[in-house]
Amino acid sequence: MEEITPAMLTDKGICPTCYDKENNHCLYGDNRDKILYENELFECFLVSNPRAAGHAIISSKKHYKDMMEIPDDLCREVFLFAKRLMRIIREVYSAESVYLCTMCDGPMNHFHVQLIPRYSFEKRGSRNFVKERKEYVEDKEKIAKIREVLKDNMIQIRKENTNDYDEIYKVIKTAFATAEHSDGNEQDLVVALRNSDNFIPELSLVAIDNDKIVGYILFTKVEIGKNTELALAPIGVLPEYQRKGIGSKLIQEGHKIAKELGYHYVVVLGSEKYYPKFGYIPAIEYGIKPPSEIASENFMAVKLNNVNTEIKGTVKYAKEFGL
Ligand SMILES: [Zn+2]
Repeated sequence: MEEITPAMLTDKGICPTCYDKENNHCLYGDNRDKILYENELFECFLVSNPRAAGHAIISSKKHYKDMMEIPDDLCREVFLFAKRLMRIIREVYSAESVYLCTMCDGPMNHFHVQLIPRYSFEKRGSRNFVKERKEYVEDKEKIAKIREVLKDNMIQIRKENTNDYDEIYKVIKTAFATAEHSDGNEQDLVVALRNSDNFIPELSLVAIDNDKIVGYILFTKVEIGKNTELALAPIGVLPEYQRKGIGSKLIQEGHKIAKELGYHYVVVLGSEKYYPKFGYIPAIEYGIKPPSEIASENFMAVKLNNVNTEIKGTVKYAKEFGL
């Protein structure tokens, strides 16, 4: 059988990149060990015939001929990602700088962005922009480092600000639209709680992906016996961002801040399969009882620190919860 080459496919009007993706990487070879990052929109991997060590490509999942054809949201995501990755590559590879280029002139060009490190021993300037291809030398440690930093860097958690309110409203509404347990007005509950005495601005947190709010968590004051402690509710993550550890990040960051603010306990009404990994146990084991309207099996509590603070009693939520 005749070997298929990129040139042959191009002659037939077939995009070699798409062909490769759809046919088990038969053209350019399996690149799983070179993948640095991937999401629904694009993938990013190290080039197998690099122009410099650390030469990476960001390639859209869908076919677009070139940058002039790509939708604005893809453009934004790809270039924000490129900016972040350039800094990481410069650091991990100890490069002096990183070139960025995107091709537009092949007849069957597939939109991609190339990031090519330039090292201090190489000449600067546009004449030396396109360098000779070199042999790919695998450096598992560097790949692992980049993957790790990218994973960590993608989602940031910060305090909400007043400009976020509308976006948070939509995020919560969308997040709960497909939830198993939802009364459909969690977004209105947040608005009401924000205006209540039980609200703590430091504990109204958003998860951000490239300036976009993708998740939200709120901890409000509750009374447990005579003490003021916290309740976690609600927490929501956009459906397409679920199962990526964003909920965990929100909960962990919330716990950290709650501790710093001097709270001892957080109670939550939720899945007994999800919350124990953050230290939640049935609240009754601490002597903390739910309001009478709540069934106790899903009512859990976590002790934030090991100080000997015995807090017992029935929980009284903010009146906005309607419990
Ligand atoms: Zn293509």
